[in-house]
Amino acid sequence: MCEISSSICSSPIGDLTISYCRKGLHSISQISPINDQSFIPDEKQTIEIQSSSGKIPIPESCLNWLHTYFHSPNHLTKTPELCPNIISKNDSFQENVWRTLLNNVHFGQTTTYGQLAELTGNKNAARAVGTAVHRNPFQLIVPCHRVIRSNGDIGNYAGKEGNNVKHWLLKHEQK
Ligand SMILES: [Zn+2]
Repeated sequence: MCEISSSICSSPIGDLTISYCRKGLHSISQISPINDQSFIPDEKQTIEIQSSSGKIPIPESCLNWLHTYFHSPNHLTKTPELCPNIISKNDSFQENVWRTLLNNVHFGQTTTYGQLAELTGNKNAARAVGTAVHRNPFQLIVPCHRVIRSNGDIGNYAGKEGNNVKHWLLKHEQK
């Protein structure tokens, strides 16, 4: 069992809620409810801890990564550790999808569900790959926003509620 702590950090796409144990991250996402109506990006907003709960301090690697992702992406370093109890949670298909996305689809790139299915070695499983992508608990870090539709449409994000966020992130990565 993991002992979990959590923090809320400011960011250009609004406050992020981040939970972690000593082994690594458990989840990261925009605080709810951020949706297309309430999304007001601020590209100058720095990464600052707003509040924390629990005994463990937020991993420095996570703060550093977020800072470089938003403010100095040419210097992006290794992604923060992800807790093996989450990423390997008795579902090797899902883990394979998340790791493939993490390791192969880099800043400024996009892929499609079909291409990702092929990359994971499951050419005909685009739909199942889509399901795994939507279950991603590591927003930004496992870059589900880089998965777009094969017709070039950006597709949905955060259950259709966050398409403006996806659009902003993809644009941010094209600068
Ligand atoms: Zn853990």
